[in-house]
Amino acid sequence: MKLLAIGGGNSRIRGGGKCPLGNVSMKDYLNYIGGEWVGATSAQFIENRNPADTREVVTRYPSSGATEAKQAIEAAAGAHRSWSQLTPVARGRILSKASFILEGRKSELAELLMREEGKTLAESLGEVQRAADIFRFYGGLSYTIGGQTLPHDLPGNLLYTLRQSLGVVGLITPWNFPIAIPSWKIAPALVAGNSVVIKPASQAPAMCCELARVLAEAGLPKGVLNVVVGNGREVGGELARNPKVAGLSFTGSHAVGHQVYQQLALRMARAQMEMGGKNPTIVLADADIDLAVSLVCRAGFGLTGQACTATSRVIVERSVADEFTQKLAARAKTWKVGPGWQPGVEMGPAVNEQELLGNLQHVKWALEDGAKLVAGGSRLTEGELAHGYFMEPTVIADVRPEMRLAREEVFGPVIAVLAVDSFEEALQVANNVDVGLSASIVTRDIKKAMIYSELIEAGVVKINQISTGLALQAPFGGVKNSSTDTFREQGAAALDFYTRTKTVYLDYSC
Ligand code: NAD
Repeated sequence: MKLLAIGGGNSRIRGGGKCPLGNVSMKDYLNYIGGEWVGATSAQFIENRNPADTREVVTRYPSSGATEAKQAIEAAAGAHRSWSQLTPVARGRILSKASFILEGRKSELAELLMREEGKTLAESLGEVQRAADIFRFYGGLSYTIGGQTLPHDLPGNLLYTLRQSLGVVGLITPWNFPIAIPSWKIAPALVAGNSVVIKPASQAPAMCCELARVLAEAGLPKGVLNVVVGNGREVGGELARNPKVAGLSFTGSHAVGHQVYQQLALRMARAQMEMGGKNPTIVLADADIDLAVSLVCRAGFGLTGQACTATSRVIVERSVADEFTQKLAARAKTWKVGPGWQPGVEMGPAVNEQELLGNLQHVKWALEDGAKLVAGGSRLTEGELAHGYFMEPTVIADVRPEMRLAREEVFGPVIAVLAVDSFEEALQVANNVDVGLSASIVTRDIKKAMIYSELIEAGVVKINQISTGLALQAPFGGVKNSSTDTFREQGAAALDFYTRTKTVYLDYSC
């Protein structure tokens, strides 16, 4: 079946929409396979509405399955050889050019991101800028991709290594950072010489389609990057099972990541799974409480709490717990919630109804478990907010470590406060979960901060900083059930996943 022949970002106006910013139009996208925008065999569509105002249809996609995934894998396999034979520097030039194009389209892309995923305009602009910076970074890093020369035991011999691409890599991404996460996988994959099939989350695939368009404009040869939008089990499952996919990098929930990892293990393919967290911020008695409140609010309510590194547990020393909780609750009540395009808005909606209802269910369970609601807890339905998936920034106190709220990822603006008697107990409570992604501490005691950085079971440690926010040049990944802990993403470390080492022995003495 062919869609309206549009694909890759052409658009048509539909009924004006509700978002008052410039480019108010619905976009129909197709899959991007072998350098062409193509439809799917199914007659089904995926339709995404603006989560801040569901009266607006923002995007529409063909609902693809294993057939389209197979076509994309074939296209990627066909394109790999010539792409991998370019020098890294030649590949890097295309990435650098893509970075410039992204910057040039920053406001238009940020608006689309905001309308499809729901984050605020400021957050959306920041994320598109991050994508541009990521492409610039890996464009520059292309000059460093090489092997090692080692001393040989014998004279007249050379011993060295080559760093080579894997072949076709599959990428599966979540909806919460719809351009940053695809970029931090696509850019290192491409610069290392791989060809790619990416399956973005169905809630927000537009940025991935736009990345394909940007890279094509930057000169990426046909077939090197392919985008297939559709059912996770079918498209993602094909990427996991197909023997032509040499490696798969996944970001998403633990339930899905665990399943995909098992499929990859069956055929011993290279795997990188990055999953959720239950990120603690410890507030010690000596902390600047106002600073702690500000950091926790930004890390818990920023991005609507829909960040894998969001603070969801605050573990506070009992002597300052009341003061901290009161100030946190007061700030939560003034946190401005609304559509991302309104000036001054600090928090947008949940991405969809399912996520919103899940957040509210966690609040209900916590109260049933005996915790105390000190701010928020409800859906917001006043005025225009009735058209979106908005909820109040929520603070729940008297949470104990065994409660569901202290153990399960909520993925929404719900902060649990747990009181403890000492730094040692705080550390023990912080580590007493089966995940470990980001962990923050607020204190003036450098010794305790250093001990925390050594003993906390997490991939990222923040001292007097928010638990969210990452440097693109630094390695990123979790421990325990937050990650397979096989390879790190981001920075130069990302190239380890996307390359393999070959060792060459050369005898020139004969
Ligand atoms: P999800 O696991 O539901 O989906 C992730 C991706 O997997 C989507 O593209 C989805 O379509 C696909 N998928 C679903 N079922 C599949 C299957 N059976 N086989 C293959 N693929 C399948 O996650 P989500 O709701 O999109 O994202 C939220 C989760 O992602 C949270 O748990 C969050 O913590 C996590 N996350 C982690 C990081 C990190 O870097 N560690 C970053 C962002 C989000």
